[in-house]
Amino acid sequence: MKIAIVGAGIGGLTAAALLIEQGHDVSVFEKKDAVSELGAGIGIGGNVIDKLNNHDLAKGLKNIGQVVDVMEVLDEKANPLSKIKLKKNTVNLTMSRQSLLDVIQSYVPDSAIFTNHYVTDIENGDLKVTLQFSEQPSQSFDLCIGADGIHSNTRQAVAPNNKPIYQGYTVFRGLVDEIDLKDGNVAKEYWSSKGRVGIVPLLNNQAYWFISITAKENDTKIHAFAKPHLQARFNHFPNEVRQVLDKQSETDILLHDMYDLNPLKTFVYQRVVLLGDAAHAMTPNMGQGAGQAMEDAIVLANCIQTYDFDMALQRYNKLRVKHTKKVIKRSRKIGKIAQRTNKFVVKVRNKIAQIIPNQLISNQTKFLYKSKEK
Ligand SMILES: Cc1cc2nc3c(=O)[nH]c(=O)nc-3n(C[C@H](O)[C@H](O)[C@H](O)COP(=O)(O)OP(=O)(O)OC[C@H]3O[C@@H](n4cnc5c(N)ncnc54)[C@H](O)[C@@H]3O)c2cc1C
Repeated sequence: MKIAIVGAGIGGLTAAALLIEQGHDVSVFEKKDAVSELGAGIGIGGNVIDKLNNHDLAKGLKNIGQVVDVMEVLDEKANPLSKIKLKKNTVNLTMSRQSLLDVIQSYVPDSAIFTNHYVTDIENGDLKVTLQFSEQPSQSFDLCIGADGIHSNTRQAVAPNNKPIYQGYTVFRGLVDEIDLKDGNVAKEYWSSKGRVGIVPLLNNQAYWFISITAKENDTKIHAFAKPHLQARFNHFPNEVRQVLDKQSETDILLHDMYDLNPLKTFVYQRVVLLGDAAHAMTPNMGQGAGQAMEDAIVLANCIQTYDFDMALQRYNKLRVKHTKKVIKRSRKIGKIAQRTNKFVVKVRNKIAQIIPNQLISNQTKFLYKSKEK
């Protein structure tokens, strides 16, 4: 089958790797002049590694990943609020985003990736789908996979009413080297009325961090924050937080307002299929956006291998729409609870968090492992 993939991100390249392996004629169109990711870290859940089964890609990810088996939430004085032991018999990995993309890309031949190809519109039909580009002649395919992220032009062409929704907070991120974290297998979040600080270990004494602050959309005051502002705002936080911010270079701090999508009713539109953030952008509170994009790719490839064209797309839709809806909603809910700013409400929330048994919180993630692969 002749397949176009719009977007050479984590989702698009995973789909390309798996579909090329099945012998399909795949072209990946990327608007940037190179395949590249942001200078930040990312966690890939055991639910994804499990679904890759024994695929070589799982081994590649294990080679570059730091194993994290505990997720701890604390208050600003480092009093524990909850501690989730991640599922046994599975590996949760953290890594730099670029190394993740590099590993996935190593399974896609260069000849299948077309950079500087900005897809502007899609003409969907019964027999073929045609992609329009800003600078190149249009091309037709049997199937188009829209993996072009939260602001997807592919989604705009097939489901124009589904726009990203601002979720009320903005996130600063960075990567630091030569950091000696006490617990190399524990990802931590410190919650306070001033914001959340996350610190996640990576291999080779690296770590990534994020700071999530409740703010208006495009809040000019918060968007003007540089390293000294963050240090001042969180200087009463535990040593570890201050050490990480000290190590951060002044110029490489990323900042993004957080958006998600209301769950779509379908990811399939004749010969166009949506995948990853284009289909189900979610807030990062469960650390699952890229993981779900990779799962989409695995499920879509499995369905295409197993069923005829129409049945494959129907089955993909059935397996992924309902599942990712749950992840979007749960992530949104966690964000709402975590981003409280009223000091009294925060105090009550923290007390409740301390009372809830950790097992109950862990149970909230069990569904991630149960979704079907084809
Ligand atoms: C602060 C933060 C932390 C996160 N942490 C995690 C985490 O720990 N774990 C996790 O699993 N997820 C995490 N995520 C979510 C994750 O980053 C995304 O879900 C994931 O990157 C989505 O991958 P994608 O391939 O669907 O889209 P993208 O990564 O957005 O890739 C889309 C690609 O398409 C290209 N493109 C866009 N438009 C066009 C066009 N018109 N024509 C051609 N090319 C185009 C883009 O240049 C890009 O390369 C986090 C997100 C944020 C914001």
